[in-house]
Amino acid sequence: MKLKRILGLGVATALLGALSAGTATAQEQRFVSVGTGGVTGVYYPVGGALCRLVNQTRRDHGIRCSVESTGGSVFNVNAIRGGDLEFGVVQSDVQYNAFNGEASFADTGAHEDLRSVFSLHAEPLTIVARAGANVSAFDDLKGKRVNIGNPGSGQRALMDLLIEEKGWTNADFALAAELAPAEQSAALCDNNIDAFAYTVGHPAGSIEEATTTCDSVIVPVEGDVVDRLVEESPYYFKAVIPGGMYRGTEEDVNTFGVGATLVTSANVPEDVVYTLVQSVFENFDSFTDLHPALENLTPEEMISQGNSAPMHPGAERYYQEQGWLE
Ligand code: GLU
Repeated sequence: MKLKRILGLGVATALLGALSAGTATAQEQRFVSVGTGGVTGVYYPVGGALCRLVNQTRRDHGIRCSVESTGGSVFNVNAIRGGDLEFGVVQSDVQYNAFNGEASFADTGAHEDLRSVFSLHAEPLTIVARAGANVSAFDDLKGKRVNIGNPGSGQRALMDLLIEEKGWTNADFALAAELAPAEQSAALCDNNIDAFAYTVGHPAGSIEEATTTCDSVIVPVEGDVVDRLVEESPYYFKAVIPGGMYRGTEEDVNTFGVGATLVTSANVPEDVVYTLVQSVFENFDSFTDLHPALENLTPEEMISQGNSAPMHPGAERYYQEQGWLE
């Protein structure tokens, strides 16, 4: 069935509404998609959790939410800009750079219609190296076969920045692979790469796969460049990957990272964003139970941290009603 696209939302014809059995009202069905990342990451299950809560009350609002696996943060903001996605999970640094037209968005310019909804879990930069590859610090990656991430992913954007800040180029690696997260663990354990970089919440399926299929370790990312980035930018912070979370890494690992955030476009109607936000916060315990990376979230932090684009008015209305915002 052909769907009409209005304001970036797929709005089905009244016919579809009438056909769906059990729908009491002739309310329009509206379709929204949430862009996430690879299926072995955390964005994908988190997007699934968001949609599940929205869809639970579909009879009341007519909004049908679907989750899409994508190339990651940079892909998601670009797809929102193009009207192909209504929502996306993106790294806080990517949100900032997209809204301000910086870093990888310098060519396309500021994405002024980007709007924040709330922030989510922390995403430490996670370097996983095969045991025996002689990688025990970030600088050991020089000369090695490293997956720096698929274009469009947040880890690729972060690796590009680190490589530049260190004064390296991709030619400093024996191989700079561009694998998607779903491919990287097999590549590591098959000895096709020595290490991979992934900006991801924990625990993540991909890291579990890499550390249980073969012997591999999580490597710290520390030093002057990291100190400077954390000091200069509000969206980078020092982070620790807890020892014992993954097989082979018993000690805490120091690194730095970003926050995951949910963004949308100013073109997405207010009631749609309101409904999504309401679905999450009215079922907050079920939401945070849906993935261990969400376990420690609080509504206060989700609306005050990690967001640099203006808040979408639909989200703002809900937060004001709750007394969480002036
Ligand atoms: N942070 C990654 C990205 O922006 C995605 C991580 C995940 O899928 O959980 O591409």
